[in-house]
Amino acid sequence: MVKTRFAPSPTGYLHVGGLRTALYSYLFAKKHGGKFLLRIEDTDRERYVADGVANILKSLYWAGIVPDEGVTQETNGKTSEEGKNGPYTQSERLDIYKEYSLKLLETGHAYYCFCTSERLEKLRADQQARKMPTGYDGLCAKLDPAESKQKAESGEKHVMRLKMDKHGETVFNDLIRGEVRFKNELVDDQVLIKSDGFPTYHFAVVVDDHLMGITHIIRGEEWISSVPKHVQLYKYFGWEIPEMAHLPLLLNPDKSKLSKRQGDVAVEDYMKKGYLPEALVNFVAFLGWNPGTEKEMYSLEELIADFDLSHVGKTGGVFNLEKLDWYNKQYIKNLSNAQLVETAKPWLKEAGIYNPEALEKAVDLERERITTLAELPGAIQFVFDLPGYAPELLVWKKSSIEEVRNVLPQLVEFYTNLDDADFTKEKLEEQTKSWITEKGFSVGSVLWPMRVALSGQENSPGPFEIAAVLGKAETTNRLSVGLKKII
Ligand code: GLU
Repeated sequence: MVKTRFAPSPTGYLHVGGLRTALYSYLFAKKHGGKFLLRIEDTDRERYVADGVANILKSLYWAGIVPDEGVTQETNGKTSEEGKNGPYTQSERLDIYKEYSLKLLETGHAYYCFCTSERLEKLRADQQARKMPTGYDGLCAKLDPAESKQKAESGEKHVMRLKMDKHGETVFNDLIRGEVRFKNELVDDQVLIKSDGFPTYHFAVVVDDHLMGITHIIRGEEWISSVPKHVQLYKYFGWEIPEMAHLPLLLNPDKSKLSKRQGDVAVEDYMKKGYLPEALVNFVAFLGWNPGTEKEMYSLEELIADFDLSHVGKTGGVFNLEKLDWYNKQYIKNLSNAQLVETAKPWLKEAGIYNPEALEKAVDLERERITTLAELPGAIQFVFDLPGYAPELLVWKKSSIEEVRNVLPQLVEFYTNLDDADFTKEKLEEQTKSWITEKGFSVGSVLWPMRVALSGQENSPGPFEIAAVLGKAETTNRLSVGLKKII
């Protein structure tokens, strides 16, 4: 059975690049009827952030990427675990790493290293000065293993290193890049266990991927140069090597590496701004993958059906915010009014205008005009509170204040004589337009001041749509308010 994993380090938040890695891993597993696992790689204690795990989980669940196994989130938001291969947080697996590192030591594939950081720094500086590749020189590999063991056990500060076989090449088939080759002589004797007893990423990732039954590793291309070390570890342990796919970088529109400096990179930022998860997921899916057809709108289920690593490009995916905005508008359009009110609830509540009944009609006015949910309260605010506006705004550019003085009172009278039931967009439009013709007014000289009086804004939805939402009483009231401004 196919099993993929997403293995983030809890260093703060989920990056959109991480979301893409998680999404592709999830899609690949689901497409093949397999499982998707979430593992927390928290062995770098210096970069550890306390609520990092909760934050990652929140973002993943929001996006609909729910793990079958590993670290999970309960409905109350608490972090939990699912599965028989746990614990799934690396800092809770130190005994396991110790056990496996000792196996390597016994078979002579690893050794204790007692070199001080001063020695390592000097070594590095010398290598750089001589323009040589930097790396450990293998000094402690020459020590007698029994003596080393004794020294380590007596408490002398040490790390454990991989005895890298420097002969030949490591060749593997990347599912995106095809055959990849690395010269082993350039690969360092990687530290496997640090002096604090924690494993390094390289050691823990191999042990865990094996013990957790991972069949396909999908991750960012920054890890591709680490593969030779990993492959050697798999070989030393006699374990089967999982399939691997390294995803191209995410790029800014200017083709530089996607970074905070050019905009938001945390999934949370997009959540807070009112992007719909469906839109962000659809957008992120296309950062590097495309189905090879014209189809652009994809639900998560459709992505599962059509996703394929062979359609992931080798070059970086460009993060184009305009495209994300386009997706968000599409998904907002697809919501019913009631769904839109419900989805935008946090923002509407914060603005103090959450009232589902009153809002259902109001949101219809702005649904095609907004890009994000966060824009909705501001956009519909005028329905509930008429903003103050300057009297001149009532005058259409091809008209005059005298004309407004003439037109508005007649319009108020005309609407006062209509029935409440006439206040639908269609009926109002039809009746008002024939009234305009009858009166011999120009369309703009009536509809412009009407729209401004109803919205209090220079730009707004059309006057009949607004009048239908406001109803007869509020429409005539606002027209009269406008009138008072100019007499
Ligand atoms: N913990 C690594 C990261 O933060 C995972 C790399 C991998 O998937 O092997 O990206």
